[in-house]
Amino acid sequence: MSLNSKIEWTDTTWNPVRGCTKISAGCKNCYAERFAERFRGVKGHPFGQGFDLRLVPEKLSEPLRWADPRMIFVNSMSDLFHKRVPDAYIEKVTATMQLANWHTYQVLTKRAGRMKTLLSGLLLEAAAEPHIWWGVSVENKKHGLPRIKELQDSPAAVRFLSVEPLLEDVGTLPLEGIAWVIVGGESGPGARPMEEDWVLSIQAQCEDANVPFFFKQWGGVRKKVHGRTLQGNTYSEFPLRVSNPTLPAVTRKHFVKEIEGSPLVQLASC
Ligand code: SF4
Repeated sequence: MSLNSKIEWTDTTWNPVRGCTKISAGCKNCYAERFAERFRGVKGHPFGQGFDLRLVPEKLSEPLRWADPRMIFVNSMSDLFHKRVPDAYIEKVTATMQLANWHTYQVLTKRAGRMKTLLSGLLLEAAAEPHIWWGVSVENKKHGLPRIKELQDSPAAVRFLSVEPLLEDVGTLPLEGIAWVIVGGESGPGARPMEEDWVLSIQAQCEDANVPFFFKQWGGVRKKVHGRTLQGNTYSEFPLRVSNPTLPAVTRKHFVKEIEGSPLVQLASC
């Protein structure tokens, strides 16, 4: 699950954590869970433990091995701010992002409260990095709007919203301090429908507020059939990306060795 992602708004996924537990309405038909559970019990498979949460320390150095600058979705198969992921491990994940700063990272969570707490303290330096984008999921008003508030109260240099799966008209979105909005409908078995008016409303709000807008998909049981055009237009806008030089190969190798030799952090038991 790491190279050439099929997700429209990223290049690559990076999963130093695998597995998660459901927390809100947007999780009902979680793609990651469906994918992971297909391999439960398969010996030697990365998802042999199904969707049970697990740290994957052998993946911590992976972005340092990629010399070409990429847009990297962090933990597409988990949630970095899940309560069972220890602070010390999250710190290691962000340390890699800070070192391998020629990439752009997209960190998306439904645990916005914990993200705010950590970005305001332990991860304050990472929060200020313009090549790391911090985002929250917004599937409805009840769960999504409080997450946006937590994000706005976080000291992040770049904040974004992933309004997916959009399950209802979310009304007026507070867009102050938001650098990017992605919208998408649910896809796969049991996909819940999304109405055009809900999407048009968000697109118009983004246009008014000068916020880049990315329309990912209509979704549905067979998402390819429905595509990603909105009234004849394709919206694929992004925030500005900073460009940093790639570290020399010898330096990258040194850091990879250092990360691989560092003491392991255990999964939290709570
Ligand atoms: S938070 Fe994300 S990864 Fe975790 S169960 Fe919900 S949808 Fe799946």
